Amino acid sequence: MKLFYGLVIHSKSIDDLRFLPNTALVVDHGKIVFIEDNADVDKIQQQHQISAENVIVLKENEFLMPGMIDTHIHAPQYVNAGFGLDLPLLGWLNKYTFPTESRFSDLNFADEVYTRVVANTLSNGTTTAMYFATIHKESALLLGDIAHQIGQRAFVGKVSMDQNSPDYYIEEKSSAIKEIEDFIVTLQSKKYPNVQPVITPRFAITCSMDLMKNLSQLAAKYDVNIQTHVSENPAECEVAVSLHEGCRDYVDIYAQANLLTAKTILAHGIYLSDKELEVLHKYQTSISHCPNSNCSIRSGMCDVRRLMTQGLHVGLGTDVSGGFSPSILDAMRFAITVSNLLSLSKSEDYKPLNYKDVFFMSTLGGAQALGIGDKIGNFEVGKDFDALVINLAQTDGNLELWLNESIENRLSKWIHLGDDRSISRVYVHGVEVKEGASNVLRVKRLGGKRKSTEIN
Ligand SMILES: [Zn+2]
Repeated sequence: MKLFYGLVIHSKSIDDLRFLPNTALVVDHGKIVFIEDNADVDKIQQQHQISAENVIVLKENEFLMPGMIDTHIHAPQYVNAGFGLDLPLLGWLNKYTFPTESRFSDLNFADEVYTRVVANTLSNGTTTAMYFATIHKESALLLGDIAHQIGQRAFVGKVSMDQNSPDYYIEEKSSAIKEIEDFIVTLQSKKYPNVQPVITPRFAITCSMDLMKNLSQLAAKYDVNIQTHVSENPAECEVAVSLHEGCRDYVDIYAQANLLTAKTILAHGIYLSDKELEVLHKYQTSISHCPNSNCSIRSGMCDVRRLMTQGLHVGLGTDVSGGFSPSILDAMRFAITVSNLLSLSKSEDYKPLNYKDVFFMSTLGGAQALGIGDKIGNFEVGKDFDALVINLAQTDGNLELWLNESIENRLSKWIHLGDDRSISRVYVHGVEVKEGASNVLRVKRLGGKRKSTEIN
């Protein structure tokens, strides 16, 4: 049992961000069993019979917040993060993405990349990641092993794609179905408490209707989440609808494939019509908003307010490497910027996203979008303890503190100016994982296997 005591910040809903001073929070076997603000810490320590070494008192400039959730990230594309941003989606896939992803049949290469992406995102405060891997079953399983070992909560998707893909990176339909079922069964059999398989048709262009229908049956059979892309780029929307005869629009393709469920998350959703939003709402399907990617490969600007007004859950995604940064803090900033830009062409009562909104989206909103809002996302009794200790008094970096600042302003500063150096501790399911993840990353970056593994 552990007792945390200090300032706690979390969201109860998008309109209800709580700053809770002098809060005692007790964690037992990874779960929150008690929380009280303005608490008498000594009394609570005695009540729960917690030994002194298990009491963690936060310092004056520290606060505790829920772990951040990346609802859309391509682990293999981590190799490409920060370059290859000169082409829009379809050209970008062919020139940069498919060639890189095809290399993940090599397990040594996969080990090198996946270890770094898990360790680095965890160090950056991503306690939960919704990963796309590649079409390769063995390396996708390895990603699950690595997430488990380093301690990240992860959904791992072996990508399925059986059409309109290069010859060197495509599956044949019948083997694609067999491989994904093997993948699910094998990963589930490992019984990792925080790692789950997720059905991952790449998107409607590279998947036949028959494959997608089979995938939706498997999702139901094994009760797993589903992730794919929707309505990211105008050219993509046009091609997708033209390929699937009898489908009214992009969302209708997935509806006809039975892929829309309350456990489905679709990345982007920039160009969805009102009718499509209505359908997504009916199925309780969520959207992952990936603003860095949308800007970097010039896909467009997603009006998150509109999606939320329609009742959709919207989480944040880095979408590495369409997005160049693996940090959810970066996604929060891009979300604010895109929303500000959109507001310029809206009426005066349009409310662009602010730091409180994106804080929600990166925590509870992300959890709700992944269908696990009852398990993580904020600090409530019965939820798993996924948390970050933020130290605002770090001496490196751009974040400056001044006397007598409000905590609201300091949170806003951290969201706009903080980085991984201010995330001093990271907990997943009650286990502290930042130090281990940082060490793994340091060893990799200092050499490690680099000499024997050619990355580029
Ligand atoms: Zn993506």
